[in-house]
Amino acid sequence: MRRFIADIGPAAALAMESCVHCGRCAEACQFYVQTNDPRYTPIHKIAPLKQAYERELGPFAFVYRLFGLAPQVTAKELESWQALIYDSCNMCGRCSLICPMAIDIADLVERARHGLFEAGLVPADYLGALAEKEQATGSPYGLTQAQFRDMLHDIGLKHGVVMHVDEAKADIIPTVSSIDLKMFPASMAAIARILNHMGVSWTFRTDGFDADNAALTAGDRAGQRKITLGIIRAALACGARTVVMPECGHAFTEMRWEAANSFGQALPFRVVQITELLAEGLSDGRIRVNPGVGERATYHDACQLSRRGGASAAPRLILRALGVDLREMGDAGDANWCCGGGGGVALVKRAQPLRDLAFQIKRRQVEATGAGTVYTSCSGCRQTLEHGGKTANWTSTVASLLERVADTLAHNQKD
Ligand code: SF4
Ligand code: SF4
Repeated sequence: MRRFIADIGPAAALAMESCVHCGRCAEACQFYVQTNDPRYTPIHKIAPLKQAYERELGPFAFVYRLFGLAPQVTAKELESWQALIYDSCNMCGRCSLICPMAIDIADLVERARHGLFEAGLVPADYLGALAEKEQATGSPYGLTQAQFRDMLHDIGLKHGVVMHVDEAKADIIPTVSSIDLKMFPASMAAIARILNHMGVSWTFRTDGFDADNAALTAGDRAGQRKITLGIIRAALACGARTVVMPECGHAFTEMRWEAANSFGQALPFRVVQITELLAEGLSDGRIRVNPGVGERATYHDACQLSRRGGASAAPRLILRALGVDLREMGDAGDANWCCGGGGGVALVKRAQPLRDLAFQIKRRQVEATGAGTVYTSCSGCRQTLEHGGKTANWTSTVASLLERVADTLAHNQKD
């Protein structure tokens, strides 16, 4: 209860007072749309937060307390809310976009998660375990600095690309996501190849490399801050002017929108998502590619990159430069539907049936395009789409936009 109260600032209070119960947010939420279960309406998911607010902070709090209209949130009650708050919200923000009162329910769910985390109610399997390991080692899968250095060395050798590691000075530092470290290591070769090709000064930093920030989705605010400050210090140590976020939605959300709060002032460098850097390079001629002809593909927008991140145009510019015949899905761009696994939902084991159900919207959309390839710029989405595609027997391939650009670079460059 104390944590809930601490997280309710004026903006959250205003949001909770402003709901006119119109129900429009329900139709925006894939968990409700796919189940018709009223428990999955967005506004219902913040009920414990609202109950705490009405009892302790709202203008009629004494009335609520006097007549027992908003009973104290108990530990037992919180336990029963755990599945709702962690399993049935991917913090996609689609409800926030559609709400006529501009209530950011995704943000309120994030606050509710802080309360649950403080109450020791983060799902241990796997989200809580990953967040714990992240705090101990700096990386959700426990990769140490030395192991990361060795890994980069091996990737460089395997892919024939020069890796810059722990250089004392560099203009650009790329970060990675733990999903890439575990499942898609070729993405690190891709970013190295592209930065070498651009002829910029860059380096990976082993003292701040994993931008995944599992703590953010777990609701561990202190842990979230620790990971972010690690990357900021690494950037400051080498005088970086640009920090590049990997193909990872919530890593971008954290560094672009939250990091300055953790740092206590404006960041002394700019933060770009990798697709934004690629689009910039293609526009100003620092990246040159050999465009293909007639590849029929679609693009899956990661919610944290498009709707919540503002990076919807960049991937489309890249796809045009690659000569791709882009077949857009319905609601593409800012109104896209989540892959089903965002916001840590993919890391909650028991959520799989619900996640698979939510994925059916994406499945129908992808299949309707008739595209042979589904590109995305988020390795979390890539993992969920690959899993869903396997169960749906897709013949189409799920691919990383970053890796595609790296494979298509024109060859007369400095890399
Ligand atoms: S759309 Fe907004 S105002 Fe309407 S019920 Fe949902 S949160 Fe409340
Ligand atoms: S943020 Fe997305 S998943 Fe969560 S309640 Fe809103 S629409 Fe549903």
